[in-house]
Amino acid sequence: MANILRELQERLPADAAITEVKFEGSQIILYTKNKDFFATCEPVIKGIVRQLKKRVEVRPDISITVDAEQTKKIIKELVPEEAGIKEIYFEPELGKVVIEATKPGLIIGKGGETYRKIKTQTNWLPKIERAPALQSDIVRAVRGLLHSEIDYRKKFLNKVGQKIATALDLSDKPNEWFRISFLGSGRQVGRSCILAQTKHSNVLMDCGIWPGVDEPPYLDAPELHMDALDAVIVSHSHLDHVGYLPTLYKNGFTGPNYVTEPARDLNVLLCLDYIDVCQKNGRDPPYNKKDVERMVKHSVSLGYGEVSDIAPNLRLTMQPASHLLGSALSHLHVGDGLHNLLYTGDFKYGPTRLFDPAFTDFSRVETVIMESTYGMPQDTMPNRQDVEANFMKYVMTAMERKGKVIIPSFAVGRSQETMAILAAHSFPYPVYLDGMVYDATAIHTAYPEYLSRYLQREILHHGKNPFVSEVFHKVSPKERAGIIDSADPCVVIATSGMLIGGPAMEYLRAWSQDDKNLLLFVGYQAEGTPGRRIQKGQRELPIHESGKTRVMPIRMQIETVHGMTGHSSRTQLVNFIQRLPGRPERVILNHGEPRACASLAKDLHRLFRVETVAPRNLDVLRLR
Ligand SMILES: [Zn+2]
Repeated sequence: MANILRELQERLPADAAITEVKFEGSQIILYTKNKDFFATCEPVIKGIVRQLKKRVEVRPDISITVDAEQTKKIIKELVPEEAGIKEIYFEPELGKVVIEATKPGLIIGKGGETYRKIKTQTNWLPKIERAPALQSDIVRAVRGLLHSEIDYRKKFLNKVGQKIATALDLSDKPNEWFRISFLGSGRQVGRSCILAQTKHSNVLMDCGIWPGVDEPPYLDAPELHMDALDAVIVSHSHLDHVGYLPTLYKNGFTGPNYVTEPARDLNVLLCLDYIDVCQKNGRDPPYNKKDVERMVKHSVSLGYGEVSDIAPNLRLTMQPASHLLGSALSHLHVGDGLHNLLYTGDFKYGPTRLFDPAFTDFSRVETVIMESTYGMPQDTMPNRQDVEANFMKYVMTAMERKGKVIIPSFAVGRSQETMAILAAHSFPYPVYLDGMVYDATAIHTAYPEYLSRYLQREILHHGKNPFVSEVFHKVSPKERAGIIDSADPCVVIATSGMLIGGPAMEYLRAWSQDDKNLLLFVGYQAEGTPGRRIQKGQRELPIHESGKTRVMPIRMQIETVHGMTGHSSRTQLVNFIQRLPGRPERVILNHGEPRACASLAKDLHRLFRVETVAPRNLDVLRLR
């Protein structure tokens, strides 16, 4: 650590007037008392960043900042009205003024001009946040929590940074080995959790539950010492990847979890809902709301392509996985060129309405850990146009015969994909969003820069946001009965995605007898769930009502649209490996049924002559 600071000092101008130097994760923060240096430091800092390969940010010492009222006045004069400023508040501990607006681009201005003027006229560092187009309680709560915990977070991030930097000074003791342990997701779709270890570091990739079965990952594996754990990387916001993470914080973990901003917010939605579902089913949830807050308090958000030291000898870069909003492929650079590991999490190597195909342009990858959900040779999917045409045909036919359509869906992912398709086809009938679907959608409107390039253009430049289309209506539990009783044709998108309870079941109960109506599956139905049984042809469903069980006949039309998934098809999995630059030495298959992992391992070996392996849980693999 001392080394880095000394090098930094040598490169700064003599009159920089630095009053404080702090780590913030892998970033170095300098506080200055010199107004001119604060205003003009950009080129100097850029040079230092290039030389030191460390991110450096300069912030004002509180003594040089203009007072709050005056600052607000200056900002309002500089920023055009159309920017839609919602709020201006201060984080004096960090020398920042936070400006929340509906059009953040207008605060930055052409070539960053407005931003620079705010900075030089107020001596505050502006931090610009997008106000979601749909009101989101979660986004508000998360940003509010991080704001109220600034003091704690400053200390926490400094501690994290010091630990990483101290260990960088260990670089004269080279790292000789690298290995991974499967604490979950070995030959199963569920509880993703992989431990990556070097001599000096321990990092978990994901920490999920096994939905349906509710089993946690093998955190009791002897090689995992919780007090030595440096960090957790979160690939995306599904319970089988993040659902157990709050338990680590409940049990005293105080290290960082690395996550994209939208995934950080979606994680909260998901984990709070999991607590709720456990309680409704009469089970004790493994953690409570406070533990979810602890997870947020210890989150460190990374943007796609941002390189960050996260532990001694480990450098993380997240890239788009195109599975969900904010989902990430995690690239770990180990040691000084010792090894490069790519952990895909769940990913889609193909276009969807929401995202461009997953990123492949890595500079080096020796080992890939790849999901295998659709790893069987028969897991093919029709092309996108046919998928959408099929979907629209089913829905429109039901509308024309004055029927109602139920689309059971996960709140995050398939729901928004379905909405984007309906909006793109200017769907003329009302679409009701029930359960968490609306809340998840609102989070999407806070982070449009994580969507496909096409959607970004539509939303940011043409003002056409599919999620705010008038066709969509939020349904509160109180309004549900009214919609169920109404005679007009409509579409309902509701949780749960596999008909394990949730509002979707209430609509099904009311509408299942009428053959004008349609139950349309768009997502994966796991073996053993009511959704899967109906999909396979069962037309009677046992349901529990006021303490009794009765059999509910189903006479409505049942259809499935294949190919709307956010996972890669078998062909896309193979193409992804082919598209990686250079050929990886080794491909490890996880997150699939045993036969899918094994089949994919066999064929990838045959096709590319690479070492392949489908580990079981608790298997340990040495990669270097
Ligand atoms: Zn997933």
